[in-house]
Amino acid sequence: MDILLTGIKPTGKLTLGNYLGVLKRLKSYVDEYDCYYFIADLHALTLPIEKEVLHDNTLDVLSLFLASGIDPKKATIFLQSQVPDHAELSTILMNYLYMGELSRMTQFKSLTASLKNEAIGLGIFTYPVLMAADIVLYDAKVIPVGEDQTQHVELARDLVHRFNKRYGDVLTLPKTLVNTSSKRIMSLKDPTKKMSKSDPKGDIFLLDDEKTVEKKVMSAVTDMVGIVQFDPINQPGIANLINIYASLKNMTIEQVTTQFKNANYGTFKKEVANAINDELKPLQERYNAIRNDKEYLNEVLSNGAKKAHARASIVLNRVKNAIGLVTKTNE
Ligand code: ATP
Ligand code: MG
Repeated sequence: MDILLTGIKPTGKLTLGNYLGVLKRLKSYVDEYDCYYFIADLHALTLPIEKEVLHDNTLDVLSLFLASGIDPKKATIFLQSQVPDHAELSTILMNYLYMGELSRMTQFKSLTASLKNEAIGLGIFTYPVLMAADIVLYDAKVIPVGEDQTQHVELARDLVHRFNKRYGDVLTLPKTLVNTSSKRIMSLKDPTKKMSKSDPKGDIFLLDDEKTVEKKVMSAVTDMVGIVQFDPINQPGIANLINIYASLKNMTIEQVTTQFKNANYGTFKKEVANAINDELKPLQERYNAIRNDKEYLNEVLSNGAKKAHARASIVLNRVKNAIGLVTKTNE
């Protein structure tokens, strides 16, 4: 079975973008792949975050993983910080990626554009190294992510080529799995910007109540054209709502535009809000049932960390042997 891996940072409340971009489909991969799903808490430290917020967000993301229907017996669900192999491999891989390529990452450029060098933590710069370590540590072949993360997976691929060229067939080459209609869910207030949990403007949160969702969708920015058609350049707001509806209902863009070709924006928006609420209601019910069950959450994490470490230590040892570090296995 091929290995599939993806992570979510506990930097804020999960959004509909996170859900449609990746979370929604994670439960369905477990029969086809050996799945590793992790909460990227070390990555969440790259921008300032209060300790209570980080702590609560982490348990929220875990509970939402479980509430989305992922079976923790079939998939390995774990916290990045509870599997020390991530940090260890990252320290090694720092030497195989270059300052130039890391400074060209769009996420680094956009997050640090307005900051002085003194205010930029090293972690935000080396983020893609840790992410490459996350990926190669499990011999993962398939990485389901939103479009915004594809550049980082590309960098991990470059690293694998570079490393294997020098040391032989040591690391496994990953590739992204990106879902078309939900690869980039945009902000409802500014449909030219991605919906993002650490910069929440125009977000729908997975734990928003029905009324809030309806209010947010009904006031989503649209245009003066007045026709529900898929034109992301001239009608980015409507295109975003079409994408959201299509991925919630598992429909194609054409099916959605045909269904709403005679509808006005108000009617269409109401249907989008209903579709979101229909999806979120059962998710929230399951979330509420487990979020305060500390014992269960701890059990999932401790089983996950054990399983993840067992797999990760194999690759870490393989890497150490390959580069000449002396390990127990080659004594
Ligand atoms: P942050 O602002 O802290 O980066 P985020 O909302 O971008 O938060 P991440 O934890 O960085 O969330 O990403 C988790 C996953 O969700 C990634 O696979 C990412 O590509 C995906 N994702 C994030 N935002 C969107 C979006 N608007 N549309 C589709 N996928 C998204
Ligand atoms: Mg992000």
